[in-house]
Amino acid sequence: MKFCLFGDIHANLEALEAVLRDAEAQECDRYACLGDIVGYNANPRECLEIVRSLDCPVVKGNHDEECSRDTPLEGLNPLAFAALTWAREQIHESEAEYLRKLRMVRQVTDFTIVHATLDTPAGWSYVQNKFDAMASFNYQFTSVCFYGHTHVPVAFAQSGSERPAKIEISEETIAIEPGKKYFINAGSVGQPRDGDWRAAYAIFDKAAGTVTIRRVEYDIDRAMEKILDAGLPEGLAQRLGEGR
Ligand code: ZN
Repeated sequence: MKFCLFGDIHANLEALEAVLRDAEAQECDRYACLGDIVGYNANPRECLEIVRSLDCPVVKGNHDEECSRDTPLEGLNPLAFAALTWAREQIHESEAEYLRKLRMVRQVTDFTIVHATLDTPAGWSYVQNKFDAMASFNYQFTSVCFYGHTHVPVAFAQSGSERPAKIEISEETIAIEPGKKYFINAGSVGQPRDGDWRAAYAIFDKAAGTVTIRRVEYDIDRAMEKILDAGLPEGLAQRLGEGR
């Protein structure tokens, strides 16, 4: 079994299609989505349709939540605000309903998926360092958990009651060792923020016991053009090119 773990798609159709093509070429046979299907980029409906057609486990992201509600958008940066206001106008009620019903945390075979953190999944905090990871580890009951939200691929490992250690996994494979816990960020499909514009996702090869972060080139010019054509802020197109 080879799982494709993908999230923070953020309505970037070109990046999502490229990732799914790559996952197929890498012989992934199962999929799990880490949330934030919508927001920021220009194809929320198309991305929703693709993710739903995969019929795979999906957890809710903060943009999925905001997009599917009709309460005022608060506490967002101007770019996120503009894109979510626009996305709310685009999606149909049945799509909003689908997003509203997504769960915060799911167990998939013997691992867990969550968008932000395991300690307060609906609080949308960011796991950026080993102290943040430690809080999630207290609520992690499987050896491996995948998450997203920061748009930066990274892994934290903890053995026994020791402090977690940070592992850089960009384009490297980590071996899952028995008796340890792993909290692994699969990076972002549609808006990477680690300075690399290429779409990111993770492959969990269950038989080999390894996790690999893949980086995939996609038609970024087309994705940028669509942002401008939709009347979304230019800054959203610009940041795609910069990978931030
Ligand atoms: Zn996100």
